Amino acid sequence: MTAQHRLMVHAHCYQPPREEPWLELVPREPSAAPDHDWNVRITRECYAPLGAAPVLDDHGRVRRVVNCWEWLSFNVGPTLVHWLEREAPSVLERMVAGDRAAISRTGHGTAIAAPYHHVILPLASRRDKQTEVRWGIREFRRVFGREPRGMWLPETAVDEETLEVLTEAGIAFTILAPHQVTSPSPDGAPLRWQRDGRELALIAYDGGLSHQVAFGDLLKDAHRFANEISERRTANGEPVAGPGSPVSVVAVDGETFGHHHRFGDLGVAGVIDRFAAGSGARMVNSEQLIAELPPTRDTELMSPTSWSCAHGVERWRSECGCRMDPTSRQGWRAPLRLGLETLSAELSAIIARDWPVGAAPLESPEQPTDTSPADPLLARLRELERHRLAMFTSCAWFFDDLARIEPKIVLRHAARALDLVPSDESALLETALVALLAEARANDPDDGNGASIWAREIVPGRMAVQQLAAGLLAVHEFEREQPVELELDTHEWSITDREVELIDLRTGERTRWTGEVITMGVVASRVHLRRVGMGMSAVIEAIDFPEALRAQLATIAAAFVFDATINGSARRALDAGELEPADARRTALNGALEHIGTAGFDSGADLLLHGALDLYALAGVHPTLEERAMVWQRLAGLPASAARSRLADRLELVLPT
Ligand SMILES: [Zn+2]
Repeated sequence: MTAQHRLMVHAHCYQPPREEPWLELVPREPSAAPDHDWNVRITRECYAPLGAAPVLDDHGRVRRVVNCWEWLSFNVGPTLVHWLEREAPSVLERMVAGDRAAISRTGHGTAIAAPYHHVILPLASRRDKQTEVRWGIREFRRVFGREPRGMWLPETAVDEETLEVLTEAGIAFTILAPHQVTSPSPDGAPLRWQRDGRELALIAYDGGLSHQVAFGDLLKDAHRFANEISERRTANGEPVAGPGSPVSVVAVDGETFGHHHRFGDLGVAGVIDRFAAGSGARMVNSEQLIAELPPTRDTELMSPTSWSCAHGVERWRSECGCRMDPTSRQGWRAPLRLGLETLSAELSAIIARDWPVGAAPLESPEQPTDTSPADPLLARLRELERHRLAMFTSCAWFFDDLARIEPKIVLRHAARALDLVPSDESALLETALVALLAEARANDPDDGNGASIWAREIVPGRMAVQQLAAGLLAVHEFEREQPVELELDTHEWSITDREVELIDLRTGERTRWTGEVITMGVVASRVHLRRVGMGMSAVIEAIDFPEALRAQLATIAAAFVFDATINGSARRALDAGELEPADARRTALNGALEHIGTAGFDSGADLLLHGALDLYALAGVHPTLEERAMVWQRLAGLPASAARSRLADRLELVLPT
């Protein structure tokens, strides 16, 4: 049998955990428009099309549809799996189906595991390495229904201890960059790493070829891809491909196919179609490669190293020089890491103290389905451990600036972890954390430092449960027949007259809330919320209700407000679905102001204006300065009255007396 050249393409699929950690909802990201957020956008552009990618003939007709997950080697980070399960289950099903189809066809699956969080394992303690690897394996088993053979390491970051932990957990191989091993294989074949009688196979990818796929346009043309492989030469002029060189390995971010490169899914489908037929090379997955070419050549690690920092793993703790914008500074990386490591050590001590068998790593939380966990203490400590580990999600340090979303993601997990600690201890830990965060400075002085970002952008998020309770009371006030249009992984609830009980599915904690729903226009504008049996009370504005509850209230309000304020051609455009929401709100605001111009406040026109303002709040936006100026002009001409003052207060207008 002639030794045919092989091609392996690995896709590392991952997104930062964009869910806020209290209700685990992804906030709207305007930069991802027209999609709700970047998870939705990237799923639409990449993960979904890869599950059913068309192969075109020379006339542009669809000749075949390929599930790329059957042919690529891939991993999908557990935090992304959780999002897909909730928001795009059919996309995850195609991934699982691809793995199963590959097993039927070759005896080897295409999916490999990943640690539970996307953390830089060489910077984690041995115990945290073990926890991340064990939880990652458990998630893989749950999703793919089998044991994993390989594991992807976040940023391919590796040291000796990381590989020891992988072997102890029964993992057989991982994938590394060529510069991470001391003796790269001349022919692409897998290598062997050994330590104390344990061994692990290492697949080192082809750096040049992977770079051309990730950053060049090699994907556009399957013929060129095939030629590129057959024409590649080693340093001493030998063909890279051919009988003497068993494999070419590509490893890239999965988002390369369709998100970074538009139509990359078509490109990869074309490549699969060509090579699956055995033309030029034979496409194999990583498990299959290890089975066909068990490693015989030994290598040592370059340790610690990663695929995305030339300085080892410094990118995730210091200003090593790795960045996108050469004019930016990363002095914030070290204090951010120190602050979170200091907090993490204290949290670990609390877990060890409160959990008597703390010497053994805690198991990962199950996907919660049980509203009353058998052991509430264990449930709370697992949740604390989950958020403690999430504080080290690597993207926080990867980019240029502290004021980006990624550092805020890890700070949100720190706040959630603090919320799971008894409040007297939590307050001390938070003070210590904030003092260390003050040393981390954003590039733009206007963005402040870690302490001001904490106060401004992290602390308000801790009101999420109150905002949920208030939103539920508000919807219940106006909508007793229809079910609440919100489903959460974190909470269940029951609503009786003027009282809502929330059950935290992660910890089993039950809380009861009551409150007064304040209506200024058509639906709730705010809720004066009280926790039953506790002294706690808060005023929650409609703009802060969870998005799905705002949308439900907006549907009720819009029917009334639009009927009274929008007519003529704007009305026809609205009915035809051609009026943008922002334009519809502004038209309604104008319509309400016209009513006031005609009839003053006598006809209830102030309620109509409040109703229009409710539509802004329920869309999660404030009126623009220009729109507030429009209202000022109209109200300034009216005599002072209680109705005028209420509107002025709501819009922060100072009117002439
Ligand atoms: Zn670096």
